[in-house]
Amino acid sequence: MKNLVILGAGTGGTIMANKLVGPLKSRGWKITVVDRDDNHYYQPGFLLVPFGLYHPEDLVRRRSHLLPRGVEFITQEVEEIKPQSKSIKLVDGRQINYDLLLVATGTHLCPEETPGMLDGWRQNIFEYYSLDGATALIEKLNEFKEGTLVVHINEMPIKCNVSPLEFAFLADWFFRKKGVRENIKIVYVTPISGAFTRPVATRYLGDLQAEKKIEVESFFMTEKVDPVNGKVACYDGREVNFDLLVTIPTNMGAELIKRSGLGDEMNYVPVDKSGFRSEKYSDIFVIGDAAANNWTKAGSVVHFESEILEKIIMAEIDGKKAEAEFDGHANCFIETGFGKAVVIDYNEEVEPLPGKFPLPGLGPMSLLKETRLNHWSKLAFEWVYWHWLLKGRAIPFVPALMSMRGKKDVRQA
Ligand SMILES: Cc1cc2nc3c(=O)[nH]c(=O)nc-3n(C[C@H](O)[C@H](O)[C@H](O)COP(=O)(O)OP(=O)(O)OC[C@H]3O[C@@H](n4cnc5c(N)ncnc54)[C@H](O)[C@@H]3O)c2cc1C
Repeated sequence: MKNLVILGAGTGGTIMANKLVGPLKSRGWKITVVDRDDNHYYQPGFLLVPFGLYHPEDLVRRRSHLLPRGVEFITQEVEEIKPQSKSIKLVDGRQINYDLLLVATGTHLCPEETPGMLDGWRQNIFEYYSLDGATALIEKLNEFKEGTLVVHINEMPIKCNVSPLEFAFLADWFFRKKGVRENIKIVYVTPISGAFTRPVATRYLGDLQAEKKIEVESFFMTEKVDPVNGKVACYDGREVNFDLLVTIPTNMGAELIKRSGLGDEMNYVPVDKSGFRSEKYSDIFVIGDAAANNWTKAGSVVHFESEILEKIIMAEIDGKKAEAEFDGHANCFIETGFGKAVVIDYNEEVEPLPGKFPLPGLGPMSLLKETRLNHWSKLAFEWVYWHWLLKGRAIPFVPALMSMRGKKDVRQA
């Protein structure tokens, strides 16, 4: 029996196992999934934990319950991929052979990459990109009554690139609700030019930051952090003072990718022009955050990718030529506080534009506009994630490739 091995049972690995189990079985293939543990986290929920909007324990489910019947699930750290012998080696010494390999090992935090960062870890330097970090921030935010909060992106790319923006908006709302906002300065420190990577959304979201009195330090390439004196230093000599630093540390691909000689300098897997196939080995595919492509690192993107990758893998197995191509379609909710959120929908070529989504002219969601319904849709998305998205189902009216229908092209305006 031929074997498709999937490394990582996070968003991408779970979706692909659910999608492929039936079609592969009928072709005499089996699927083996490996992850280091049995805890699947709903990562978008981490953002809301420090503000008391989600309870940490509600964000974890067992991977083994989310994977379909008929796949073999192994909980063990993967040590190395050995492309020459088409096998993987687990930390306990076991070896598993594959006919096709799908890498879905995501990205993780590397605070040790920045001098000084770990010296103030969980004292005056926090993160919320892990459940532990988000939980530790609950108490810290509750006791923070005055001073400077710096929301800091160490370097790009990071997964969910709008999340730090949401953190700053929610912090503004949280401190206002507590009546201490007047005593707190919020500074948003980013290596890019502003709130987003493209002009229309940067203007809109930049205006929101100004309205909420969030100061912005842009093009800030962090050199080091000094937790004792509360300073973040930029290579160009600028310094930003903080009392509390909430950072998104450097994100990197899995160490195993480096150990296997499959990664770039950030341990992401270089891919061919399809965006999915290893540049070096044609029997190794990559989905999601683990890939070194230009697509946004986000769960919504992983979901859209899965619809295309399913076609590519099935064509490979059937010995046919794959016609499907992905356009980097992404959509994201941006919480803005006070029970409102903004929705953006874009791809590699078309930046986020205003309009109605997903039904042209009808919505009910609004693009690049703060609404209550967008916020409720973000909260409802958690149910969609567990019960629909991870099962590998398409979301009604939201195709994998971006559509211009319902969008107002204001790019020339
Ligand atoms: C705070 C936060 C907010 C977010 N908000 C949003 C949002 O609003 N919308 C959105 O679309 N996305 C959001 N995301 C991003 C989204 O969660 C990720 O982009 C998505 O989960 C990536 O899926 P993946 O399959 O590539 O990686 P993951 O889901 O991270 O899975 C990778 C898996 O690989 C496993 N693994 C890695 N190395 C090994 C090894 N050596 N051995 C065994 N197993 C290994 C890990 O244990 C993990 O289970 C957010 C993320 C965070 C942290």
